[in-house]
Amino acid sequence: MLLLDGKTASQSIKEQIKQKVIEITALGKRSPHLAAILVGNNGASETYVASKVKTCAEIGFESTLIRFEDSVNENVLIEKINTLNNDSGVDGILVQLPLPKQINEQKIIEAIHPSKDVDGFHPVSAGKLVQGMQTFIPATPYGILLMLQYFNIDTKGKHAVVVGRSNIVGRPMSILLSSNTKYGNCTVTICHSQTKNLKEICLQADILVAALGRPEFVKGDMVKEGAVIIDVGITRVEDASAKKGYRIKGDVAFDEVAAKASAITPVPGGVGLMTIAGLLKNTLQAYEARSGLTY
Ligand code: NDP
Repeated sequence: MLLLDGKTASQSIKEQIKQKVIEITALGKRSPHLAAILVGNNGASETYVASKVKTCAEIGFESTLIRFEDSVNENVLIEKINTLNNDSGVDGILVQLPLPKQINEQKIIEAIHPSKDVDGFHPVSAGKLVQGMQTFIPATPYGILLMLQYFNIDTKGKHAVVVGRSNIVGRPMSILLSSNTKYGNCTVTICHSQTKNLKEICLQADILVAALGRPEFVKGDMVKEGAVIIDVGITRVEDASAKKGYRIKGDVAFDEVAAKASAITPVPGGVGLMTIAGLLKNTLQAYEARSGLTY
């Protein structure tokens, strides 16, 4: 069984980007700049944003963290996004989701200029993805592609089952896996909460992507011998014996599924780290497009 270790794979991508930043700055140019907006004090969001900002520093990107109170007004957020859209020193903008109830997430996503949409959530980015055009791929599916590439997982002609149809993970993942590309060309089945016979469908998967947000939902008896398992889930499960009072669980019951899989991502240390790598690649792409740099 091959452990699809996100630490090794993301480290290699970060090294490549770091090298590019060295080349860019050696030309006397500024480094790529990511602006992150964080609303409120959600613990998981704080952790994600902190880790994105820290990784920017590691690879030589500039980053700006903009924080708002939980009570922030939608117009104030949109105004800030407009300022960042018009700031030629900012290449990528991300707004950490979820947002408080009074804010319409879709409106916020659409306020980001498509050229700075490094999370790849804007309808323009999503539309281009569907049509196989060059675009910002949402960071998590992009990270999964980078992982398949790093470990050279053969996808051509395989049956991929994606459980989850969200706009940020499941649906774009299903599109990418079905695309006519090196790490695509799968026959894809996409499942959701209304899917009947989910277990039977999962049992047919050569590649199973679990992105439903239900801790340890995928059990050993739901997977085929030799399947490749990509566990996207991240859920904090209360555990008094853990130092932080919780443990991070994936959507896959790791031990029993790993016993049958040919390859599997761990949680933590799998897709989460690759998501950051995807975001950084998108930010570099935004920078290059803005500055007309090509490599
Ligand atoms: P959403 O809640 O937006 O979507 C969940 C999807 O799973 C929905 O399509 C839902 O179906 C489907 N679903 C829920 N329950 C079942 C079920 N019992 N059987 C089949 N399908 C089901 O979640 P996200 O896509 O945003 O995230 C999924 C998971 O991935 C979460 O744990 C999240 O924390 C994690 N995540 C991890 C990231 C990383 O970097 N590793 C990044 C982003 C997310 P329906 O549409 O019918 O409601």
